[in-house]
Amino acid sequence: MSPKTTIDDVYAQTLARNPGEAEFHQAVHEVFGSLDRVLAKHPEYVQASILERVCEPERQIIFRVPWVDDTGRVRINRGFRVQFNSALGPYKGGLRFHPSVLLGTVKFLGFEQVFKNALTGMPIGGGKGGSDFDPKGKSDGEIMRFCQSFMTEAYRHVGEYTDVPAGDIGVGAREIGYLFGQYKRITNRYESGVLTGKGVTWGGSLVRTEATGYGAVFFTQHMLATRGRSFDGARVLVSGSGNVAIYAIEKVHELGGVVVGASDSSGSIHDPDGIDLELLRDVKERRRERIEAYATERGGRARFLPGASVWQIAGDERVDVALPCATQNELDEADAARLVANGLVAVAEGANMPTTPGAVRVFREAGVLFGPGKAANAGGVATSALEMQQNASRDSWTFEHTEERLSEIMAGIHERTAETADEYGAPGDYVVGANIAGFIRVADAMLALGVI
Ligand code: NDP
Repeated sequence: MSPKTTIDDVYAQTLARNPGEAEFHQAVHEVFGSLDRVLAKHPEYVQASILERVCEPERQIIFRVPWVDDTGRVRINRGFRVQFNSALGPYKGGLRFHPSVLLGTVKFLGFEQVFKNALTGMPIGGGKGGSDFDPKGKSDGEIMRFCQSFMTEAYRHVGEYTDVPAGDIGVGAREIGYLFGQYKRITNRYESGVLTGKGVTWGGSLVRTEATGYGAVFFTQHMLATRGRSFDGARVLVSGSGNVAIYAIEKVHELGGVVVGASDSSGSIHDPDGIDLELLRDVKERRRERIEAYATERGGRARFLPGASVWQIAGDERVDVALPCATQNELDEADAARLVANGLVAVAEGANMPTTPGAVRVFREAGVLFGPGKAANAGGVATSALEMQQNASRDSWTFEHTEERLSEIMAGIHERTAETADEYGAPGDYVVGANIAGFIRVADAMLALGVI
């Protein structure tokens, strides 16, 4: 059977076995699109059915999460943990709390995570979890009761050598604190390595909060350097205004770029004079308000675009770099065409799969540097692995040392991705490079561990 036929067959089986899970199908399709050249070189992967095996999670856990709201009413949500692949180490990947979360969402994120984690070169497998719980508008007490109930079931499935969750959309330091507290209480163990993204006073790592955003910017720096460019003077759009977006903006500004737009699920802000990050953090992080408040309080030329995506700003502005840092499939083909027409040089995915397949095609055809999430946003999980290292050795590193490690890791991921793309006949194609480099590391470990 030719590599292409094998890939088509396994993809058809994946669709049939996982009906209705469009995002999972999209993630599998994206990785498979790079693998014909790998199977041609490695028939042993076909013989061992590695492709079939990597698409089937090792374990999928779905559970009821009952909790009591502030009025005394019992509420029910659904919890998930998909333990996708542990060939390289304990399952590792975040928890997402958002009303849109379905099993297929968690599977797409878990699948991506397997290859991303492999690409970091660190000893971590891939998994993901979450709930359809909506943290928006909930009191602190409600958030705590929900997190405690979630962990009351999840604790049986996680552990520092088994599965190590972290944050994602809707799960930040506050939620990790409540989850960790409940784990500690139930197990009577101060097992710091069971969760990452902890507060720095109780086992967390400096730079973990900043790591995904900073890492995406470091990765972009390396891509830009291949064309003799830098962030100095670059005009940048960032979508989202959550954890990844905020620290991407901070690092771009440190490197001399100007971020002129950001967003949340209610709309976007356009600030041609450059985003005032302190004000944005005050609105979104401290006051947890909608992003419109930023434009109102900033005044001047800043404006709020209700319901609009941040990529629409490219109609009015030169944009050199786009950093999608909100959610999946948020940048489509029309957005990509508008960005390309306005001078775009580079895109790096701070979020997971934010660019639709049509938009990726537009960027590739236009010769735009395109850093896929697997590579560009791997700094978060890599720093989680550094947090695990510090927990295991009961040590805590300085900010400078940890940021230096992050910077080296992102340089390594860029180099590995670019070299693999060259080796497989696709120079400059970071999608092919990231997919293949991640896949081979996982596939070789799976071969070594036998039929399990
Ligand atoms: P946050 O919850 O901190 O922020 C998410 C941001 O995206 C918010 O501004 C949110 O707006 C916006 N957003 C979420 N869903 C939608 C939607 N459906 N439409 C429009 N805007 C939306 O999450 P993170 O910053 O942690 O995560 C962002 C992305 O980065 C996700 O794809 C995540 O998987 C990925 N990622 C995160 C890592 C991490 O370390 N945190 C690591 C690697 C990847 P609003 O405020 O209105 O909800």
